[in-house]
Amino acid sequence: MFFHSVTAEAPKVITMTDLDDMLNYEARPAVQTKTDWKAPIMWEGMWEPVIYDRAHTENQSSVALTVFAVGRYLEAYLENFLVSAEEHFMIGLPVTFYVFTDQIDKVPMINLGPQRNIRTIQVERHSRWQDISMMRMKVISKVIVSEIQYLFPYVFCFDVDQIFTGRFGSEALGESVALLHAHYYKLPKDRFTYDRNPKSKAYMEAGDYYYHAAIFGGTWENVKMIADGCLESIMEDKKNNVEALWHDESHLNKYFWLHKPSKLLSPEYCWDMQLNRKDIVVTRLIWAPKDYDKLRPQ
Ligand code: UDP
Ligand code: MN
Repeated sequence: MFFHSVTAEAPKVITMTDLDDMLNYEARPAVQTKTDWKAPIMWEGMWEPVIYDRAHTENQSSVALTVFAVGRYLEAYLENFLVSAEEHFMIGLPVTFYVFTDQIDKVPMINLGPQRNIRTIQVERHSRWQDISMMRMKVISKVIVSEIQYLFPYVFCFDVDQIFTGRFGSEALGESVALLHAHYYKLPKDRFTYDRNPKSKAYMEAGDYYYHAAIFGGTWENVKMIADGCLESIMEDKKNNVEALWHDESHLNKYFWLHKPSKLLSPEYCWDMQLNRKDIVVTRLIWAPKDYDKLRPQ
């Protein structure tokens, strides 16, 4: 028990920085657990869940989760995403699922626990899937300004084509949170698929990690800055008639290169079951099967 001294004492309010200071960085010798700018990389075994949960409950932390289900993605993925999120995402904390869709009437009814809500918001359906994906940044920023900033200190933004399978808890909360991409966390940097076109605002020569845009989060202030930063680059590219290699993901990688995230999630937080899972002690969220030909606008 690495948190013995704390659990032995009467519960007291712990600041969020103290919490990450208590992480056991030696718990997972086979993987990197800290970045060179000293941000933790969250791997199972480094913390005691109850310590985070207690501190965040005392702190009255609450979380807005954003997810987009536009066009055929709604019927293909949304129900499994929401049902599994209700079972595993930030259990014990107040959570509102912000569902952005072009078909509000088709959003499934889900049984929700106390202090858990779904809020559906109509969005336009861009004709290109690349724009459906990229323009999420604009909508996220807008709803943070109009609503989330008054209600939720933390925001987490998710792709819909995934399923929660294990605890995705308060240990994942932080100032600004990025996810290591399951396919790249082991690869040398020269294999990272950053945008390499100097004409794009997402262009990068060097980077730290390859982050997966399927999940990012943080305080509402930081998530707003992330979304605004990416959107500004996306719009600049549009003006110049270029598109980054992996769309919003390329811009997100550039943003997190210039503005280092304060916490990284290991690929345990978003795993592709097709891969060899030697380092993966627990799968908290897994990729749902992709069916681009059937699901994306042609
Ligand atoms: N999306 C959507 N409808 C579409 C295309 C994308 O709702 O037709 C949303 C959905 O939330 C999806 C995200 O945009 O998870 C990113 O797209 P996708 O998952 O296809 O990208 P990939 O995971 O392949 O990078
Ligand atoms: Mn996806």
